[in-house]
Amino acid sequence: MTVVRGRRGSTARLFLKPALGRRNLKVETRALVRRVRIENGRAVGVDYSQGRKKITAMARGEVILAGGVYGSPQLLMLSGVGPAERLTSVGIKPLVELPGVGKNLVEHPFMFVGWNVRPGAFRSELRLDRATLWVLRWGMFGKGLFATNGAAGNLFIRTEPTLDRPDMQFTCMSGEVSARELRLSPIGKKPPGTLGAGLSVIKQDSSGEVWLRSAEAHDPPRILFNLFKEKSDVERAIRGLRAIRDIYGREPLRSLLADEVLPGANLASDADLERFIRDSGAITQHAVGTCKMGIESDAEAVVDAALKVRGVDALRVIDASIMPDIPGGNTNAPAIMIAEKGADLIRGHSLPRARV
Ligand SMILES: Cc1cc2nc3c(=O)[nH]c(=O)nc-3n(C[C@H](O)[C@H](O)[C@H](O)COP(=O)(O)OP(=O)(O)OC[C@H]3O[C@@H](n4cnc5c(N)ncnc54)[C@H](O)[C@@H]3O)c2cc1C
Repeated sequence: MTVVRGRRGSTARLFLKPALGRRNLKVETRALVRRVRIENGRAVGVDYSQGRKKITAMARGEVILAGGVYGSPQLLMLSGVGPAERLTSVGIKPLVELPGVGKNLVEHPFMFVGWNVRPGAFRSELRLDRATLWVLRWGMFGKGLFATNGAAGNLFIRTEPTLDRPDMQFTCMSGEVSARELRLSPIGKKPPGTLGAGLSVIKQDSSGEVWLRSAEAHDPPRILFNLFKEKSDVERAIRGLRAIRDIYGREPLRSLLADEVLPGANLASDADLERFIRDSGAITQHAVGTCKMGIESDAEAVVDAALKVRGVDALRVIDASIMPDIPGGNTNAPAIMIAEKGADLIRGHSLPRARV
């Protein structure tokens, strides 16, 4: 998390808002960019809509795409930059053939594991009177149970000793995700206490794709994750489930837990666990890779080391879509670092040699 003084900080609040007074900055909201204008191989501006208004903004310098892992490849394709067959199939004339646009979509597959717990866990603090006190404590001191998003404990492990880095992230929660409704009265049936852990597979061999549904920018693109397409990803997730059971089966957690509700202790064989993984597997919301950075000989590279789109002048992509591979952890801070580095590249700044 990016947190400042006990509050999550978005890039809008921490970077954009303080800069709003600058004369060289104009922010348009409720605007949908429809395409990048490319003339004679150079990006010269963008067409966008604001309500019914259709507007063109021309660029004296460069056009920067920061539409994220789904928006940036969508905009490149809407502008005629991408895999030729994906463009022609929706009636767009290819201007620059870049087969990697939209490919290499990588995520962290995600599953929940849950236990019933003995009394006294997080849920009992969701009674209105107790919760009010926790909120006040958070507001006044930035401390206490409600000063965390409930997922403060993160554990990174290697499920095989031969791995050079962790392949599994366990997000150890003090409740489970549905434990958010306040209870008004101390009288009445108490909800069961539960404890949950999120299991993110932070190395993935499968990859997916983003492509156009139509030539209209307001049509969301099609997204295919291909989670668990490769058997190695299923095997990794099974090792992860066994590892988390092992950890939660030891003291001091063991004495807190009553029984496993997800996947359920009766699911033990590889086949059972694979079924659970395929039925319940979701995403962590850490997608990357659809405009990946790479060297020239890499046919699927979309941007070069300066984040410039191959084959188009004055056009860069600066967001999580340029990551060639997925980091072994959450992606927001890496995306912010890419933006910081991108800003330096645009301004021609580099670190003094001694600090590299
Ligand atoms: C529900 C959720 C929870 C997450 N939780 C965490 C977390 O706890 N910790 C963490 O590290 N990471 C988290 N992430 C991941 C993190 O938010 C992303 O990795 C990060 O925001 C990526 O930054 P970005 O700049 O690449 O894209 P984004 O933040 O997605 O920004 C792209 C922007 O472009 C806009 N856009 C796209 N197309 C157009 C268009 N045609 N016209 C106009 N605007 C357009 C989008 O609306 C969006 O505002 C979470 C993601 C999600 C979805």
